[in-house]
Amino acid sequence: MSAQILDGKTLAQKIQAKLSQEISANQKGRPPGLAVLMVGDNPASAVYVRNKERSCAAIGMVSYGRHFPGDVEQNVVEEEIERLNNDPQVDGILLQLPVPPHLNAAAILYKIAPEKDVDGLHPVNLGKLVRGEQGLRSCTPLGVMQLLQEYKIQLAGKQAVIVGRSILVGKPLALMLLEKNATVTIAHSQTPNLAEVTAKADLLVAAVGKPELITPAMVKPGAIVIDVGINRVENEAGQSRLVGDVDFLGVSETAAFITPVPGGVGPLTVAMLLQNTCDAFSLNTKVQTG
Ligand code: NAD
Repeated sequence: MSAQILDGKTLAQKIQAKLSQEISANQKGRPPGLAVLMVGDNPASAVYVRNKERSCAAIGMVSYGRHFPGDVEQNVVEEEIERLNNDPQVDGILLQLPVPPHLNAAAILYKIAPEKDVDGLHPVNLGKLVRGEQGLRSCTPLGVMQLLQEYKIQLAGKQAVIVGRSILVGKPLALMLLEKNATVTIAHSQTPNLAEVTAKADLLVAAVGKPELITPAMVKPGAIVIDVGINRVENEAGQSRLVGDVDFLGVSETAAFITPVPGGVGPLTVAMLLQNTCDAFSLNTKVQTG
């Protein structure tokens, strides 16, 4: 194996330790607060929510869990968001996705006050990102950018290829990389000859959700490879494990840098959520104190 590991876990711990210090040193009378809304009993979502709540507690942030039954009506969730928008203890509001199909997720997300939208999914925040203005930004792409910065990876002039065009990862990440003067291509499910596109990338990001889609033949030697995918797979003995969208062992032979799964982008997503909540807290408390 030749690639250097981009260690997201260690960076996330460093960021969380810094946030924890800031929270214990703050003189503003209350800790930052994050409301996490979940609908139904999707087991993966339950794990993510628990993880976020634990991470809040670990740094001295307060989390306010709101767990709705799977058949909750749209207006009940929207009214709760309205209440949280007006709650001065709450700095960040997050809706755990996906929600059951009878709910209109976009309409719920649009209800969140943009200054409390710590997932960066409100159209105001997405619009600010398009315009290159300051605002709350989507946590996973932000985590990828932090990791690249931590390892002092220069982006200007690089050919970046992102596989995946979701509003959560692919699209916002493309804009963040553009901001750093990379030349960005977004590939997706309808891209013909995917391997030809990915093989041109100096920086290759996989955000698809297909186990080990990216094989060594698809990667330029010496590339930087960021694996956003999280897939649970089972071996023949029925044991399950997490893998990314990249064939980690194979691609490690040729890439210059690579993120592992787990321990790469995942922990940074949580760290960025906490960071965004602290940023929202600083802004909100500044407004409240004049
Ligand atoms: P999504 O389903 O919304 O989007 C997947 C994208 O992949 C789509 O744009 C689609 O066009 C593209 N795609 C599908 N099949 C393809 C193929 N064969 N070739 C090329 N492109 C293809 O998913 P998402 O929310 O963006 O998440 C992507 C992956 O990242 C998932 O595994 C998810 O679990 C993971 N994820 C991880 C984190 C983290 O913290 N590490 C955060 C969010 C998502």
